[in-house]
Formats: sequence, C-alpha cells, structure tokens
Amino acid sequence: MTVVITSADWTALRNALSSPERLHISGDVYERAWGDATTWTGQPQAVVVAASSADVINAIRFARQHDLAVVPRGAGTGLSGGAVPSERSLVVDLSDLQNISIDPTHRRAVCGAGAITHDIQRAAAAAGLAYPPDPASHTESTIGGNVAENAGGLACTRFGVTSDYVLGIRGVTADGSLLETGCYVGDRGFNFTDVIVGSEGTLAAITEVSLRLIPTTPSGTTVLISFPTAAAAGQAVAAIKRQGDNPTVLEFVDRDAAAISSSLGNVDMPATTGGLLLIETNASQAGQIERIHEVAVSHAAEWIRIASDPAEVSQLWAVRRELSRAIKTTCATYLSEDVALPLSRFAEAVDVVAAMPKIPPVRVVSFGHAGDGNLHAVFLADNTEAQTLLEMERLVEQLLRETIRLGGTLSGEHGIGIAKRQYLSWEFDTTTLQAMRSVKSTFDPDDRLNPDKIFL
Ligand SMILES: Cc1cc2nc3c(=O)[nH]c(=O)nc-3n(C[C@H](O)[C@H](O)[C@H](O)COP(=O)(O)OP(=O)(O)OC[C@H]3O[C@@H](n4cnc5c(N)ncnc54)[C@H](O)[C@@H]3O)c2cc1C
Repeated sequence: MTVVITSADWTALRNALSSPERLHISGDVYERAWGDATTWTGQPQAVVVAASSADVINAIRFARQHDLAVVPRGAGTGLSGGAVPSERSLVVDLSDLQNISIDPTHRRAVCGAGAITHDIQRAAAAAGLAYPPDPASHTESTIGGNVAENAGGLACTRFGVTSDYVLGIRGVTADGSLLETGCYVGDRGFNFTDVIVGSEGTLAAITEVSLRLIPTTPSGTTVLISFPTAAAAGQAVAAIKRQGDNPTVLEFVDRDAAAISSSLGNVDMPATTGGLLLIETNASQAGQIERIHEVAVSHAAEWIRIASDPAEVSQLWAVRRELSRAIKTTCATYLSEDVALPLSRFAEAVDVVAAMPKIPPVRVVSFGHAGDGNLHAVFLADNTEAQTLLEMERLVEQLLRETIRLGGTLSGEHGIGIAKRQYLSWEFDTTTLQAMRSVKSTFDPDDRLNPDKIFL
C-alpha cells in the first residue's frame, strides 16, 4: 500500500532538519537532482540538502516512515546513473558537507562527504602532502561520490584508486543509525570500509571520510606521442609497463577523440593517424624519458612532443583534461562506457573499438587511463531516434562481450548504477552475485538505499 505524504508530513520533516530551507519539494535545487551526467532522469518526491549527520539521519528516518527510497547524491557527475532518483524517492544531497581538515603529523585528511576532490588535493598540497586519486571531474566531484564509485583517474596508474586511500568512513545506514568503519573504530573487526567503498550509495549514506595522504612527489616531464594505429599505442602502453617503468600519467586518446580536442583550439599539434599517448614521467625513475622514447620509436611513433616549458605542459594536458566534456558537445546522444582490461590485452580492446563499423549516425571515440587498463569508449550520435539508440546498445554489448572475453571488467571506475546492471551476470557468477545481494540485504533489509542501482 502506498503511504500518502501530506503537507503536514513535509512540515514535520522541515522542522526536524537543521533549517527548514534544507528541504526542497520544487525549484532549482529540486530539479537539479533529477539526473547526473548521463541521460537518465527521475523525479524524486523531495530533496534534502543535508547540513549535518543529524539531517541525514532525520531524512532517512522520514523515508522509512513514509516508505520512500533514499538516493544519496554528491555533485551529480556520475556516469552510470547512480544518483538518478529512484521511483518514490527522497534524494539526500550530501554536497554541503564540505569541511576539510588536514593532519600533517599522521598524514591524514578528514573530509565531509561533500568536499570537492580538487579542494582536498589543494588543502593537502598546502601542507606539503598529496591526495593522488585524480578523476578528470575533480573540480566538481565530491569525495563521497568518489568513495561510493571507487573513482579512478589520471594519476591512478602510479598511485592507485580511491580505495587505496580511504582509512575510515562515517555514514548513516538504511535504518537511520550512525555507522563508523576503519580508523574510526580502531581498525578492529571486519573491514567494512572496503565493503562500502564502491557500493554506489546502496549500503550507507557517507557523511565523512578519513583519507591517507602521501608526501608530494616532484613532477617529471610531459610527453605526447602519436602512433600510426590505435593498437600500436596500446602495445606501447604494455611495453612501457613491462620494462618496469611506472609513469605518473599514461593516457590513451584515439584519433577521433584527438581531433575533437584539436578542434577546441587549445592544442596546437599535428594530426595523429591512430592515436596518442599522453605521458607524465615519474621524476624519481632515472632515465625513464629515454626508455619511453625507445619504446615509442620501436612502436613506429609518428611524432613525439616533449613539453619544454609550463605553457607547453598545459597545452599537452589540454588534449585530455577537457576531453569528456568536449566530446559531449559534439552530439545529441552520448553513451559512455568505461571497461578496463589487463594491460597485456589492452591493445586488443583498443582494436575492437577502432574496428567497430562506424555506420552513421553512430560514431565511437575512445580514450582512457591506459596505464591502469581503463578504456573509455563513447558512443555518439547526432540524433536521439530509437533506432540510433538500438544501434548504440548493440555496439555497447559487443564491447562488453569482448571485454569479458579478454579477461577485463565491465566498469573500471564509473560503476554499474543503472547503466550496466543488466550485464552484471556476464562478469560475475551466481555465487558471487548472491553474496553481493546478501551483503546488500544485511545492510539494508528493506532495499531502501538506491534500490534500483547495481542489481536488476
Ligand atoms: C567530465 C567527467 C569526467 C570524469 N572523469 C572521471 C575519472 O577520470 N575517473 C572516475 O572514476 N570518474 C570520472 N567521472 C565520473 C564521476 O565524476 C565519478 O564517478 C565521481 O566519483 C562521482 O562523484 P559525484 O560527487 O558527482 O557523485 P554523484 O554523481 O552525485 O553520485 C555517484 C554515485 O555515488 C553515490 N553517492 C554520492 N555521494 C554519496 C555519499 N555521500 N554517500 C553514499 N553514496 C553517495 C550516488 O548515490 C551515486 O550512486 C567523470 C565524470 C565527468 C562528468
């Protein structure tokens, strides 16, 4: 039976929150919460923009009383539909929990879930430390969203992903109780931190995280290399890693994606026939630039550009930093896939995308954090017709099947969300899927937190 929510009920919630303005049942804040960076949308019953853990608890308790789903939300930059409101839902927006405190002695940052990734990086840098996970969305995405998606990024080839830096989590569970994990409980007992990292808002609403910081490392040289084929670029990635080099950044950009970057006018470079590698060397590995140069030459590099001053460094970076957004502006329909491959099979996956039939209006471009095996394939079209979407889905399924065949994973960093839940059984066997569902029902027996995400 549907529980009817009266205006008196909303008033009661308003009064329970730290301020009545924290509840939105119409207006800009309400409407902004209808979607994320995908094209899926949903209309929630209301949005609570939490100012404290107490607001989160009150919102979740209200949702329980009125049989609403709860959808935790950060900045809404997600690329798998994770923050898209479920049916009959209350969105709990955690983006206002922005406190950041740096503890240089213990090399830790304690951050509210809404702290922007880049702000954490800047606060750490001011203390002579670094928080390396570096999603390309870092000027917008929140740490809560990064933890919920186990975000990767440009520096992850050398430094690892978000899960490598989370020491502990504070959050609110589906029954409105406070949850503390990891360093908050002295690292005793089961490792619930790692269970919650990557759980996409289905196990708890994260309110605070404690993060490991590392000493800053001097940056090395930035290089852009063009290859005659996408596969040659992919093979060069594996060769660089095989010889023991671990650059700070090792990004792949295919020919068509590079052309989109060039068309922005921020990058002055010759065209590439197959694809590019953008590499930032690791200053502490002596001779790395020379060894990478040799690999490039042995993989028939068309041209090699080594940045000689800061202006040129930022030009080379422009090839990659703004790419996702730039690609989006070139089309009416946009579907972004983020598979990840073992490095030894990366070139084959790159080839799968390069060989896909480009039947207009559907186009495919690819790029990604290659040093980590991440390959983003973006399917684009100039119209939104049903036939176009069907053709895109056919190509997506081809990519996902090939990824599984090559020993890869459906999602390197963007999560399953709505986007890939129908394919989960392609990657995981029944026992593993059942174990995941059991964890979900232990944390959330009523299936209240982000109920339609990850699982079908
Ligand atoms: C231009 C662009 C570039 C990107 N580049 C990268 C990249 O390089 N690497 C990468 O990994 N991703 C990338 N992304 C994807 C996205 O930025 C990340 O997934 C990011 O972690 C999402 O953070 P958010 O705050 O926007 O979360 P949202 O989109 O608001 O939410 C994402 C998911 O996390 C859950 N969630 C959010 N906050 C909380 C919380 N406090 N508690 C519990 N659950 C929560 C939501 O329910 C949802 O399931 C990119 C996106 C864009 C648009």
